[in-house]
Order: sequence, then C-alpha cells, then structure tokens
Amino acid sequence: MHFMNLDQAFVAGTYNRFPVEIVRGKGSRVVDINGKTYVDMGSGIGVTAFGFADGAWSAAVTEQLGKVQHTSNLYYTEPCAQLARLLCEKTGMKKVFFSNSGAEANECAIKIARKYSAEKKGSGYFTIVTLVNSFHGRTLTTLAATGQDHFHRNFQPLTPGFVHVEANNAEALAKAVAEHKAAGILLECIQGEGGVNPLTPGFLAAAGALAKEKDIPLMIDEVQTGNGRTGKLYSYMHFGLSPDIVSTAKGLGGGLPIGATLMSEKVHEVLRPGDHGSTFGGNPVCCAGALNILQRLDDELLASVRSKGKYLMDTFSGAPGVESVTGMGLMLGLKTTAPAGDVVRACMEKGVLCLTAKDKIRLLPALNIPMEDLRWAAEIIKETAKELA
Ligand SMILES: *Cc1c(COP(=O)(O)O)cnc(C)c1O
Repeated sequence: MHFMNLDQAFVAGTYNRFPVEIVRGKGSRVVDINGKTYVDMGSGIGVTAFGFADGAWSAAVTEQLGKVQHTSNLYYTEPCAQLARLLCEKTGMKKVFFSNSGAEANECAIKIARKYSAEKKGSGYFTIVTLVNSFHGRTLTTLAATGQDHFHRNFQPLTPGFVHVEANNAEALAKAVAEHKAAGILLECIQGEGGVNPLTPGFLAAAGALAKEKDIPLMIDEVQTGNGRTGKLYSYMHFGLSPDIVSTAKGLGGGLPIGATLMSEKVHEVLRPGDHGSTFGGNPVCCAGALNILQRLDDELLASVRSKGKYLMDTFSGAPGVESVTGMGLMLGLKTTAPAGDVVRACMEKGVLCLTAKDKIRLLPALNIPMEDLRWAAEIIKETAKELA
C-alpha cells in the first residue's frame, strides 16, 4: 500500500517530503517501498547515530520496553539516572535536565540563564544574545532565538528579549551584551541549518571570556553538533571552551526523542522544584537507548569519525563542481556549482540520500557508516556535482 498519498491527505503540510516511502533499514542502508536501496548520508538529520536497526541500541531499548515504558517524573527510574551520570562524567557538568527535543533543551537553557541573571543582577537582565543565521528550534521562544527572519514571518509577536549579532564579530557581541543587559549568550559552534558554518576559534574564545567577565551563562547549542558528530563528544571540546550550559538532542537518542540540558557548577542549582518539568522527559526507554549510544562514543569511535570526515574533506576539496567544503568530522557542507537541491535529487535517483542546509549539500551520515558505503556515496555525490555543474 502506498502511504504517500494517505500522508499527503491527512498529515499537516509542513514538510516538503521527497517522494520516497521508507519501509526498513539496516546500518547505513535504507529500503523504500519499491525495494530500492539507498545509502543514507543524512541519518534523519543527525539522529540515527549508529544507523538503522542497530543491534546493541535496539536490544537496550527493547529490554527496557519489556520492563517499564514510562513512570512520570514522580518516581525514579534507573536509565534516566545512569544517563545523567554518564553525561556529567564525560563532560564535567554537574546536573542534567531531560526533555524530548532540541527546542525543549534550548528552552530549558534559556530559562536557566534568565533565572540566573534575574537572581544575580535583577529583573532587567533578561535578554539573550544569539547569532545571525543561527537555528535553535521551532517553539515561539526558540524561534525568537533563531537569527533567521524568514522563520519568523507571520508568527509575531515572538517571545521578547532576544537580539542577534553577526557571527564571528566579537566587538558586536560585546556591544550587544552591554547595551541590552544580557542574561546569556547562546550559540552553535558550527551553525548547522544556517549552512554548516564553523565559528572562528577566536570568536568562540572571546564569547567565553565575555560571558565570564559579565558573569552571564554561555550556552552552547549542541543539538546537531553534539554526541560525536564532529569527532569530539561535543563540538565545544574542539575549542577549549567551558560552557555554563549545553543543550543537546538529535543523535543522543539514536532515533528516539530525547533532549538534554547540561548544567555546570555555576548554574546547576538555579532550577528548583517546580521551576521546570516535562511529562515525557527522562523517559526510561529513550534514556536506555541514549545510554547505549553514549557508552559507545569512546575515543576509538571519535577517532574514526575524524578520519572519515577527513576522507570526505579530501574527496570533495577541489573536486570539479564543488566550490567549498566546510564543517568538522561527519558534519559537512558542500557548496556546489549546481543548485544543491538539484544535486540532492539526482543523488537520490542514484541511491544516495543527502540533506541540504541553505544553499549547500549537508552530509550527516551515521557515525559508524562502513567505509565501503561512505566511499560509494561520496563517489556518487562527486560525480553528480560534476555532471550538473
Ligand atoms: C535541530 C536543531 C534544533 C531543534 O531541535 P528539535 O529536536 O527539532 O526541536 C535546535 N538547535 C539546533 C542547532 C538544531 O540543529
């Protein structure tokens, strides 16, 4: 049965889906309703960290599913506690709040920053400074944080108290923080939806120093860049930053919905009973899967992400029809001479699924994609970029 037509009839038309009906997958390969196999270079936007139907992750999830699937946050469950401990051990953070998505992880970060600054400095200090071209989510508050006007159109008024400054402009950041009585700074080390744009180490260092000097939380949005994606556990670890708050989601769950907001020593006691909550947050099934993912993000795996990323960089840099390659690890953006959408569609015909970000092709394959699949997909993308140039 073709469910594409049913979907178009009954599911809200918020997505421009490709005409591909996916029925199953294994590892980095996915099969559609006609039996056509694709190599997946998008991982459901950086979510299926270890590919489809990964054995160890599935086992962890189904084992928990057979015990307790949900309790509400009125009671304790072990996967939630173990996952929080491992996140803290691996990052040096002190506490974790669990939610269900990236937007919610950022909402929590923003609430912590506002409460910290309100208590420390007074109620006038509520503005969060973010960057032009950023992406932080689709709720009305995280849309306000998102520095891309086209997402805002017709949804005004958004949550007040957000200003956006140009990325990599430390002077503009300092000016905005001072002028607007900032309560915090929120940024992605590599802007994902904005086109896979890494921020400069100098700017990130300046943002860290400024946050410290002004005693406001530095919040790093690791929703896309986190959980091994860039070849370190979190992307801020490439830059020697010590964020006060880290938000993450996407790859953490390996395919089940989870968001996490990590709090440093400085802010870990800001939220008190009643300040925040989530019915599904810390769900034991999602946490059992995430715990399995996080346990496997060891040095060896991270080194393989870096070397696969280097392989892709080397393959695409200077290739005919490829104008630039940006990103780190297995989070890459390709600016092609041909429109990105055309290249993505042609690759799909040939059996490779890719993403776009702004005017670039975006690649976020599973962290454990076999070299054989990676090589094959990279050759198809390279050949297509050249053909259409
Ligand atoms: C995807 C993304 C979000 C939003 O995550 P959702 O789970 O869709 O709410 C927020 N920030 C960044 C950097 C993202 O890439």
